Amino acid sequence: MLIDLSREISNVAGEPDEVSVEVLSHEEGAKVLGEKFGLTQYDFPDNMAINNERISLTTHTGTHMDSPYHYGPSSEGKIAKRISDIPLEWCVNKGIMVDLSDSNSQKPVTKEEIKNYLEKYKIKLVPLTIILINTGADLKWGKPEYFTDFRGISQEALKYLLNFGVKVIGVDSFGFDPPFNRMLKDYTESKDNSFLWPSHIFGRTKEYCQIERLTNLDLLPKGDFFDVFCAPIKIKNLGAGWCRVVAIV
Ligand SMILES: [Zn+2]
Repeated sequence: MLIDLSREISNVAGEPDEVSVEVLSHEEGAKVLGEKFGLTQYDFPDNMAINNERISLTTHTGTHMDSPYHYGPSSEGKIAKRISDIPLEWCVNKGIMVDLSDSNSQKPVTKEEIKNYLEKYKIKLVPLTIILINTGADLKWGKPEYFTDFRGISQEALKYLLNFGVKVIGVDSFGFDPPFNRMLKDYTESKDNSFLWPSHIFGRTKEYCQIERLTNLDLLPKGDFFDVFCAPIKIKNLGAGWCRVVAIV
C-alpha cells in the first residue's frame, strides 16, 4: 500500500508565506502559443491549447526538505550540501515512524522519548534509516495554531539519532525546532543564543536533512520498518525543496 505523507501546497492559515499562482488558461494558451508559431486559436482542437502556471512561494512552503546549506554555509567542516546535492540513497530507504502523538508535553521531543520508543519496539536503527516523528501537530493543520503551537525536536534527540548514521528526519509540525515565538521568548529572557534554532544550527556540526509538515504519519505501522521515498525537487544550489513523501507499507 502506498501512503502519501505530503500536504498539498496551497494558501492555508498556519502557513505564513503566501502562495501566488498566475494561471494561463487553455484558451489563453492557444493565443500565446499561436502568436509564437503563427497559428490562431482556431488551429487547435476545440479552440484550446495547453495551459500553464507561474507560481511564487518559498522553498519552505508545504511539505519540504531542508538541506544542510539551510543551516549554514558549511557542515562537518565541508561546504554544506544544497538541496540539489542530496544523495538519492538518503531519500529512498527504510523508514521508521516514532509515534509520540499521545504525549501531552509541550516541550521539544527529548532523547529519552525516542530511545524509549525504539526500545519498546526493539527497533535497531542502521545508517540511513529515515526517521518520521509523529508529534500529533498535524491535527492543527489549516489553523493558525499550526504555526505557533507545536513541540519541535530537541538538539539532544537529534544528536542521538544522527549517531546511528541517520541522515533524514521528518516531523509532522510546522518546524523542526520550537515555534518562533517560543525561541524568541527564551532568547530575550536569557540572551543565550543557543535557544535560536538549536537543531537547525546543529546541522553545521553534523550533516543531515529534515522534512517539515508531514501528514498521515498515524497510518504508518508502529515498530516496523517500511520503505520511504522522499526525494526533494532538484532546484540548483538552493537550501530547501518541496518533497512528495511516500511510504510503501
Ligand atoms: Zn524548512
